[in-house]
Amino acid sequence: MTPTALPAEFYTPFLSDTAKSRKPSPIRSLFPLEARPGVISLLAGKPNASTFPFTSIQLTSRSPTDPSKETIVEVNGDALAEGLQYSATAGIPSLVEWVYGLQERVHGRKKGEGWRPTITSGSQHGIYKAAHALFNPGDSILVESPVYAGVIPLFADLGCNIVAVETDANGISSKSLRSILESWPAGKPKPKALYTVPYGCNPTGMTATEDRRREVLQLAREHNFLILEDDPYFYLYYGQAERPPSYFRLELEQPEVGRVIRFDSLSKILSSGIRIGFASGPASLLQIMDMHTAMSILQTASLTQTITFALLDSWGYDAFITHTKTVSQFYKQKRDVFENAMQKHLTGLAQWTPPDAGMFFWFKLLIDPDTTADGDSETVIRSKALEKGVLALPGTVFLPDGKKTAYVRASFSLLEEDQVNEALRRLKEVILEERTS
Ligand code: PMP
Repeated sequence: MTPTALPAEFYTPFLSDTAKSRKPSPIRSLFPLEARPGVISLLAGKPNASTFPFTSIQLTSRSPTDPSKETIVEVNGDALAEGLQYSATAGIPSLVEWVYGLQERVHGRKKGEGWRPTITSGSQHGIYKAAHALFNPGDSILVESPVYAGVIPLFADLGCNIVAVETDANGISSKSLRSILESWPAGKPKPKALYTVPYGCNPTGMTATEDRRREVLQLAREHNFLILEDDPYFYLYYGQAERPPSYFRLELEQPEVGRVIRFDSLSKILSSGIRIGFASGPASLLQIMDMHTAMSILQTASLTQTITFALLDSWGYDAFITHTKTVSQFYKQKRDVFENAMQKHLTGLAQWTPPDAGMFFWFKLLIDPDTTADGDSETVIRSKALEKGVLALPGTVFLPDGKKTAYVRASFSLLEEDQVNEALRRLKEVILEERTS
């Protein structure tokens, strides 16, 4: 049975006061009318593109199916003109259509069935706009803990009450989530949303199991909150088991859709500098995010969108998926190298669960093996390890309340095997020295 889309009024209680007072841009909202046959537009302050000096862009890419071959993609004519000019706030139409096609293939979400995409300048900017659309000072947001450090200041800046939900090797703990929600003080407004990174979480590297995801979705219905699914590591899944479905797909099993706003990013698979991501979710919320875009940056850069689309269109969806599989296998090898080095140097000195996705290893330093307390990696990592020439992140930066923890985040994406071994050998020395001091 096809689920029904939640109606526009459903979202009103979720909106922040600033979002409620936003109005569509008087100019940008009329852009679509310029395409109406017979209309002579005196509307937009678009510069005359014939004065722009660019005449053609040529890019060369490695072929996803045969890396020894290069494909040449030309951007000229109408595509170049579109890339050089102001364009629709939600993204250039060709890239928006590409996203519709991708989300149907990958997540089973069809165009016209309760969602639409909007192109963002990276997923970070999408999350920023969604947060501004939803939260007033004092509103509660549930976040998995440890959580991506990039959202802590974002939610704090809006004056949110950040509520930490525990996580373990199976991802976010639905038990912890249920207990928070069931013991929520009577009379206090319930959390509006949950923020989670379901694959290869930054920093823990964990991927939430399918059961956990179903339970979380069920709780979202029972306790009426939205799910902000931040998923930049989706295409970096390399686990042995079949990948669990996204929240965006799983919500199709619910009687109604529209609780999930999904944030995708091309940063880890095409280029992080190109700054292209996309949010997919209910039109009522994305429209508010688009108003934010229109007043802050007008739109995501047309040219990077055009270049991205030209490349993706020249490949087609199958080659895109092939490319993402190659990228995920690259990270799997890096993970294996890191894990072997962990075993070699830090067995008995640290504890970890190897990740099945992404580019992070999260491990606990066993500085005092006799205590069950969590400990504190902060000084060890910030001063002792650095003195020996190893730079990593103490786990405290990923805890919403900034409390001490013995955990450390190591990123393994850039290092060669000898560098990994040397870094972990140095860390072993630090831990042994700490143990005897
Ligand atoms: N979310 C998470 C969990 C991330 O790790 C990152 C990148 N570090 C982002 C969002 C931002 O990515 P983007 O480049 O798409 O803005």
